[in-house]
Amino acid sequence: MGSYDSDLFQIEQVEDGLWLLSEKMVRYAIRSNVWIVEGQDADLVIDAGWGVVDWPVEVLFPASDKPVWSAITHAHCDHINQLFHFKERRFGHADARDIVAAPTAKNTNAQPWTPQLKLIEPGFEALDFDASSYGEDFRPAPLTDIVGEGDSIDLGGVVLDVIETPGHSPDSLTFIDRSRKWMFTGDVLLNGYIVDVLHHSDKRQILGSHQRLMNQDFERVYGGHQHPIDRPKAESVVARYIAHKAKEGITLE
Ligand SMILES: [Zn+2]
Repeated sequence: MGSYDSDLFQIEQVEDGLWLLSEKMVRYAIRSNVWIVEGQDADLVIDAGWGVVDWPVEVLFPASDKPVWSAITHAHCDHINQLFHFKERRFGHADARDIVAAPTAKNTNAQPWTPQLKLIEPGFEALDFDASSYGEDFRPAPLTDIVGEGDSIDLGGVVLDVIETPGHSPDSLTFIDRSRKWMFTGDVLLNGYIVDVLHHSDKRQILGSHQRLMNQDFERVYGGHQHPIDRPKAESVVARYIAHKAKEGITLE
């Protein structure tokens, strides 16, 4: 991988062997993180953005001997839109299979939610983005590899273990690099509000998934949105969520 910067997109190095692709036209508050983990045999793109503008993949990922694989933390619109570019291998949960094979505005939650978000970063109005039709032209990107609890993705010298962390959505996965103590958690744990009001969200499941995540040996959380966080910050996010749900009468007991 290498750095990249244009008016619309940026790829920056976050750690040795870890890169972040950003869609600059999306407001930071709701922009999706696209993490790129390098291995010796393949690189892995974790999640595939909002796709307000199609990614110039041949520029962002210049052809090389090393394949670029993809994985999704879950099949919401803002994490799968550009998945179709990555043809070689696509990893995801069994419950994501039918969605990415035939993505619609409804099954990806693009509608009715997108028009309620101020998606576009000021300065990018010329893109003329139409939130009300977002999701009508998603392109199919069938999974090649269904993964779940206990599976792992071997990139050569780098292995990501898969654990199932449902609650934000039924198909939510977390990918863990145990040697570097990194967790890619999607939207079930991130530095901010955990969305739990979608039709298929389950607040109690989120509490359970948080408990499982906190039982892992990790130092960094790379969520689906917002800045990465360390363990103390992750613990505080989880504690806050527990307190909020307790007020709603929802606990794990
Ligand atoms: Zn989501």
